[in-house]
Amino acid sequence: MRDKTIVTHFGYEKDSQATMAVPIYQTTAYEFNDSTHAANLFELKELGNIYTRLTNPTTEVLEKRFAALEGGEASIATSSGMSAIFNAVANVAESGDNIIVASKTYGGTVTLSGHTLKRFGIESRYFDVHNPKMLEEIIDDKTKLIIFESLSNPSIDVPDFDGIVKIAKKHNILTLVDNTVATPIHCKPFALGCDLVAHSTSKYTTGQGLALGGILVERKGLNEFLKDNPRYYHFSTPDESYHGLVYSDLPLPNFTLRVRLSLLRDIGNAPSPFNSWLFIQGLEHLPLRMKQHSNSALKIAEFLENHKEVKKVNYPGLKSNVNYEYAKKYLHDGFSGLLSFEVNSKEKALKILDKTKLFSLVVNIGDSKSIITHPASTTHQQLSSEELQKAGVPEGLIRLSIGLEDVDDLIEDLEEAIS
Ligand SMILES: *Cc1c(COP(=O)(O)O)cnc(C)c1O
Repeated sequence: MRDKTIVTHFGYEKDSQATMAVPIYQTTAYEFNDSTHAANLFELKELGNIYTRLTNPTTEVLEKRFAALEGGEASIATSSGMSAIFNAVANVAESGDNIIVASKTYGGTVTLSGHTLKRFGIESRYFDVHNPKMLEEIIDDKTKLIIFESLSNPSIDVPDFDGIVKIAKKHNILTLVDNTVATPIHCKPFALGCDLVAHSTSKYTTGQGLALGGILVERKGLNEFLKDNPRYYHFSTPDESYHGLVYSDLPLPNFTLRVRLSLLRDIGNAPSPFNSWLFIQGLEHLPLRMKQHSNSALKIAEFLENHKEVKKVNYPGLKSNVNYEYAKKYLHDGFSGLLSFEVNSKEKALKILDKTKLFSLVVNIGDSKSIITHPASTTHQQLSSEELQKAGVPEGLIRLSIGLEDVDDLIEDLEEAIS
């Protein structure tokens, strides 16, 4: 099945009411047939719904559909993008371990890796996605995960996938790609050899800024990689919190299963069924929307590139951009709707923000309405000036998330604001 068919049909079997739209199963819990059934579900002798913190039929449609769209084996939806990333880390790393993170990432990932995980005794090391050889110097036998973004937010870089994957495979280390900005429409990290994909579904998946959510997808064949892998002993040794369950004994997708059985159980960052339903609606037209987001963003990037007040434009679809060759190789059918550009000073940047009329001053991306942001004073405000530098966020940088309005109106609005 191809993308546009997956997003409209995959993973939904009509229930007794034959509703065309996927129903919202708005419930906390599920009734067991009898006491044996209840015990069987808890012992995993039978699979079924127990409590919405663990599974929900509406969320399950989203999970199946998303996994298929990414070309993965299975996925697990969460309450936010940050919780999807946190769950991926917490599923493999513990106190004394380390993870490796791209030096330019979403602000939440910067603070999670640099501060919050540190409090749990998990060290973060950083690498440049265009210089994967650096990985060789920082990988050791306590390294559990390499995290990077397929299109980084807000510096808009495309990583050297082949270089990163080659080193990760050599050391048998899992790679996690945050595919939020590129979306599965423009990038398929599993086809590029990566192991896990995370998304904030709050962005392009809802497409209209309607709800917060996240999802974590595992690739096909990951069970074999994890089984008896000493770096990931968690999957082949008894889980004491589950009567000595050994995940690799089960013919189920082990990575997401362990997130569900232990992390969703104990931490509870599960999605609401209503939000899952909103994401199912959004997914249906994701391929159509991404096409227009990408076409408009390219036109706006070209307009900005030729503007005398603009120092630099970051958009991988521009031939002048350092990412262009990577983008041509690893992205397809467009370059998404996010771009950033630099003007001479913070004052000039803030003046532009205040003058635009169609662009809303909002810290979000992937909405049908265009958004303008000044990362240094908002999304990346908690970063020190050294961290800002490392994250690729100069003070005169403005980020745009190009919506679905008429592109000529957007260009006119920018023209007036910049001049
Ligand atoms: C927004 C975003 C996140 C965090 O997602 P939330 O749903 O806001 O928790 C993570 N990564 C990227 C690239 C994002 O844009």
